[in-house]
Amino acid sequence: MDPVGVAAAPDAGPGPAWQSKCPWGAPNTTSISCSLADVMSEQLAKELQLEEENAAFPEVVAVAEGPFISGENIDTSSDLMLAQMLQMEFDREYDAQLRREEKKINGDSKVSISFENYRKVHPYDSDSSEDGVDWQDTRHDPYRADKPTTTPRKGFIGKGKDITTKHDEVVCGRKNTARMENFAPEFQVGDGIGMDLKLSNQVFNALKQHAYSEERRSARLHEKKEHSTAEKAVDPKTRLLLYKMVNAGMLETITGCISTGKESVVFHAYGGNATEDKVIPPECAIKVFKTTLNEFKNRDKYIKDDYRFKDRFSKLNPRKIIRMWAEKEMHNLTRMHNAGIPCPQVVMLKKHVLVMSFIGQDQVPAPKLKDVTLSSEDMKKAYYQILNMMQQLYKECNLVHADLSEYNMLWHDGKVWLIDVSQSVEPTHPHGLEFLFRDCRNVSQFFQKGGVAEALNERELFNAVSGLNITADNEVDFQAEIEALEKMNEDHVQNHGKKLSMFSSDGDPPIYDE
Ligand code: ADP
Ligand code: MN
Repeated sequence: MDPVGVAAAPDAGPGPAWQSKCPWGAPNTTSISCSLADVMSEQLAKELQLEEENAAFPEVVAVAEGPFISGENIDTSSDLMLAQMLQMEFDREYDAQLRREEKKINGDSKVSISFENYRKVHPYDSDSSEDGVDWQDTRHDPYRADKPTTTPRKGFIGKGKDITTKHDEVVCGRKNTARMENFAPEFQVGDGIGMDLKLSNQVFNALKQHAYSEERRSARLHEKKEHSTAEKAVDPKTRLLLYKMVNAGMLETITGCISTGKESVVFHAYGGNATEDKVIPPECAIKVFKTTLNEFKNRDKYIKDDYRFKDRFSKLNPRKIIRMWAEKEMHNLTRMHNAGIPCPQVVMLKKHVLVMSFIGQDQVPAPKLKDVTLSSEDMKKAYYQILNMMQQLYKECNLVHADLSEYNMLWHDGKVWLIDVSQSVEPTHPHGLEFLFRDCRNVSQFFQKGGVAEALNERELFNAVSGLNITADNEVDFQAEIEALEKMNEDHVQNHGKKLSMFSSDGDPPIYDE
């Protein structure tokens, strides 16, 4: 029985699109025209096959393509959600049962069979520790060969004529056959495992090589597929995380997607019930950091050198590094909020999913500064506000935004709100001052172009924010001085093992105001 099929049965009215793919419905006769190159494409073949499979098992489609992800299908019925939760639960039980049977059949036998291929929850996906921020979780790697039972140091076992050495052909052969089980599940090793098959080392090694290259190839294919869907949607595990938030009453409904960026997807949601220790805002933004890793590679420099995260960085796998971005955004938002800077307020963090208050109203996000047309009065007001916020950020939060521009400032309630601070760093970060200078350049240019005559140029702005007094009157020299300062700080770290507490020269930065 399939719980989704039952629980998600349509009550009345037109159902969601996937229901029309029901095998009992009218056959789909639309023909798709395509080129010869398409016909020859392996990728296309895979996709077509997938489509066919999906058509045959519509309920699987429902699980794989959650309803609210598209952004169009706003009706997230709790029935469906419940059904999907049940399906996950069902899959898990099914897998547990498989595991029990596997154990029963194998017993103590040296040669074992595996039902891995029949499992519903892929070993990479199964994760029972959904609660809490589990930085420490170690995932069992299903592809890593178990430690083979070794022959003792002396190189042989047994006595007299029963002696067998580690080079014994029969023992080795059997061991090699058993080790085939550790190849990736999709690698077909035939029936050898069930027979008393002996593989020579040479044959085994050749097979192993092939299995690994196959594994890598399949991973690449998989990644491509992930990539195309990840543009709009999130992966099933993230979806489950989101369902759980709704199920726990934290969120009322997730209405749709407000932004799909390279590194994150942002959803809008209505807040759920307040708990004893938490007030949940009426409208929330959910920022899901993408777990497709490629996009994050070029961001290494922000976090790798941030000493707050330095010790942890080297030990982490990429999945955890992505969670670290989410964690960083949370900490930075909290600092900003404490300093009274208008910004989203953190509601909660779960793995790579950050829930915060929504800047906007009735599902409509506040426009970015680049998208609003402000009166010259508001423009000037916005400028001074940003100048103040940059100073506060630097002085009170000890932060440099590091991606500040009209793209990451929203106009709401007659003022500017700062967002997107996962990459923000402390000023003493090895490139902190360069990031600040870039921020200043963006802000100066935007407001100078926007007709604010009072707007400082980027160098003046930099000095005003940092309190430093760099006198160079041209960009190149200015930049050189910045880099010299950064280097000085790095040398200090080398020599004294810690950073200068702050860059400062002659006291507090001047406060500019209207
Ligand atoms: P990135 O630019 O890295 O994709 P952002 O944090 O800038 O991520 O979010 C992307 C977009 O989502 C923003 O430009 C903004 O339009 C919207 N957004 C993000 N957070 C919020 C929020 N708290 N309230 C309203 N809209 C938001
Ligand atoms: Mn952004």
